Amino acid sequence: MENAKNIVVIGAGFGGMASALRARAQGYDVTLVERLPALGGRAQTFEKAGFKHDAGPTVITAPFLFEELFALFNKDAYAYYDQVALDTWYEFIFEDGARFKYTGDLEHTFAEIGKFSEADVDGYKRLLGISEEIFNIGFSQLAAKPFTSFFPMLKLVPQLIRLKSYKTVFALVTKYIKNPYLQKIFSIHPLLVGGNPYSTTSIYTLIHYLERRWGIHFIMGGTSSLVAALEKLMLEEGIRIEKNFDTTSITTNPATGKAEFVECADGRRLSADAVIFNGDPSYAYENLFDDLPKRPKTMKPAALTQYSMGLYVLYFGTTTQYPGVAHHTIWLGKRHEELLHDIFDKKIETQDFSLYIHRPTATDPSFAPEGCDSFYVLCPVANLQSGVDWEVEGKPLRDRIVKTLSATMLPNLEEHITADFWMTPKDFETDYKSKWGAGFSIAPLFSQSAYFRYKNQDPTCKNVFFVGAGTHPGAGLPGVVSSAKVTHTLLTGYLG
Ligand SMILES: Cc1cc2nc3c(=O)[nH]c(=O)nc-3n(C[C@H](O)[C@H](O)[C@H](O)COP(=O)(O)OP(=O)(O)OC[C@H]3O[C@@H](n4cnc5c(N)ncnc54)[C@H](O)[C@@H]3O)c2cc1C
Repeated sequence: MENAKNIVVIGAGFGGMASALRARAQGYDVTLVERLPALGGRAQTFEKAGFKHDAGPTVITAPFLFEELFALFNKDAYAYYDQVALDTWYEFIFEDGARFKYTGDLEHTFAEIGKFSEADVDGYKRLLGISEEIFNIGFSQLAAKPFTSFFPMLKLVPQLIRLKSYKTVFALVTKYIKNPYLQKIFSIHPLLVGGNPYSTTSIYTLIHYLERRWGIHFIMGGTSSLVAALEKLMLEEGIRIEKNFDTTSITTNPATGKAEFVECADGRRLSADAVIFNGDPSYAYENLFDDLPKRPKTMKPAALTQYSMGLYVLYFGTTTQYPGVAHHTIWLGKRHEELLHDIFDKKIETQDFSLYIHRPTATDPSFAPEGCDSFYVLCPVANLQSGVDWEVEGKPLRDRIVKTLSATMLPNLEEHITADFWMTPKDFETDYKSKWGAGFSIAPLFSQSAYFRYKNQDPTCKNVFFVGAGTHPGAGLPGVVSSAKVTHTLLTGYLG
């Protein structure tokens, strides 16, 4: 490794870890720094009173993207972690009691659709067909492609128009599906990556095909086991890891305009031939680059103003088990479009909600003491642009959620809940340095996608790169791990 170029990766989310591994496989000398005491970014692990919780991502789609990281070093991913395919992907429960079980068995899905509307079975088949077409462009051709100049985007315009990417996910789904319950179910995917189905580009309909083609998986022990596996691989391959490294500046040399050092709040300083930043790009541009030359307007946070929603996440155990509850449940309240409008556009606090409920003990009993269950409930809320004081509002929202679940899908939860605690958008801002405490960085709008998203290479300071949810292609584990491929192409192009 003598004379190897020296790469510092700031941030150990999935995008940062994937970038560090790709750079290392190329033979570069790599140091990964992370401000938190543990790797994983939003995929932290919490433990309380014998209950374990994945803090963030729980649904594993596109498992091949992780396999690839191990294959870079001729290693078998499944020697490092144990992955299981789930039979039931999600159960949807509506406030009025209507239920829809979404599974990997296509015939079963048709039967479930038929319970709501026979006519929509055919519409769903056509939706899957268009989703595959969108996938073949949106994922296969675009997800790992750099968009540092407008030209590649321009070349794609005819295809994007043919696929109606200017439409929203909800508009596309309603073209094929007419039943209001099914419309809500099959347009849910943008919410998993921080977007409102009523404004997110229909490119995200590709997730339907992604799920059907590769299934939905869980890593035994939780997503934290995948983080641990990646950490082990990085150490085996000679990547240096520095935790509790809160980067306060990326120092440039005014003569060359290039980044030279990465500095930590405690005085540690690392020299770098290239820097890859995996946190929120808005945070980096506002806080880390004091003396950089002026950058184009399009790279400034002021130009990218639409942030994803905030997340309120309630973690708890129960002193009993709820065996009828699926591993992943989506509980939809009475209001849908109006609720999302309040959260995303009006950015106001609402009394009602829709929820995602994670019950890992449905698959892996190690998450809770015997006879108990472990849960987390994710409630989309307005990000910090709402001005909500979460010190005040955190507990009342906890109580409203527990009361609602107690009266519906988790009977007597109020008596059985134990060891609960929560994260609010304020914690996302403090812990992950996410602007406005957004759950998924900037929103996945057409006007903030590909060339219009934060660039994976800084246009001014050419040895600074970005990877992760705020960059192309966007949030979600498949998105950020793909963004590492984009960044790697640009990095190797720069370093030669
Ligand atoms: C509650 C929740 C549930 C989710 N569920 C799913 C799911 O089921 N499936 C799915 O695919 N996706 C899911 N997602 C989305 C997915 O988790 C994220 O999009 C993805 O993990 C983001 O990865 P990233 O590479 O952008 O980095 P992040 O995870 O955002 O990590 C960035 C890291 O950079 C560090 N950092 C920032 N600034 C600095 C600094 N100055 N110095 C040092 N370090 C710094 C941060 O501490 C952090 O560790 C979920 C997200 C959340 C929040």
